[in-house]
Amino acid sequence: MKYRTILLFGAPGAGKGTQGRILGMVPNLYHCACGDVFRNLSVDNELGRVFLEYSSRGELVPDEPTVQLWRENIEAHTRTGRFNPERDTLVLDGIPRNAHQAEMLRDTLDVLAIFYFTCPDINKLVARLQRRALHDNRLDDANLEVIRNRLETYERETKPVLEFYGSSLVKTIDATQTPVNVLRDILRVLANLT
Ligand code: ADP
Repeated sequence: MKYRTILLFGAPGAGKGTQGRILGMVPNLYHCACGDVFRNLSVDNELGRVFLEYSSRGELVPDEPTVQLWRENIEAHTRTGRFNPERDTLVLDGIPRNAHQAEMLRDTLDVLAIFYFTCPDINKLVARLQRRALHDNRLDDANLEVIRNRLETYERETKPVLEFYGSSLVKTIDATQTPVNVLRDILRVLANLT
């Protein structure tokens, strides 16, 4: 059985995390951010160390351990009843993050829509990430070089995921708006989907 899935898609700093957390409070929506799954690993965990090594450079963690960790996480949440695939729609942030991951998850995800958060102003993204570094204690947000690398990684590796799923699923959301208005635009589309 495939998971009914909505993807939150867009550059680092576009606001996917903010919206994902709100959507996760709506009954029958289950929010999962791949970056959070990594950050919840302890540093004495081997993959936790690998994560720190790659994320501190602004690069993606290799695909196989990433997809395996994500699968284990979602299966554990299914067993404990936090996520019920029969009832819930998955709101996914941060995975699949390149075309190969999308291919690996082809038989797992039934993607209903992709919310594509657009923010053409790179400076705005950088400013948001730098603000977040202070709030969330995220090392990968604190360094300008790492931020630039993440934005490049996004353009080079993550953007092609849009082509993998095809334009008919893509719902463009203007991420430069206030969080309330971004949420309004998402809910408008969602209301017609579920
Ligand atoms: P952001 O989108 O702001 O960069 P995330 O929390 O989504 O923040 O990701 C932080 C880091 O975690 C990424 O830079 C990457 O190193 C790693 N990561 C998260 N998801 C994936 C994934 N699906 N594949 C590989 N690496 C990932």
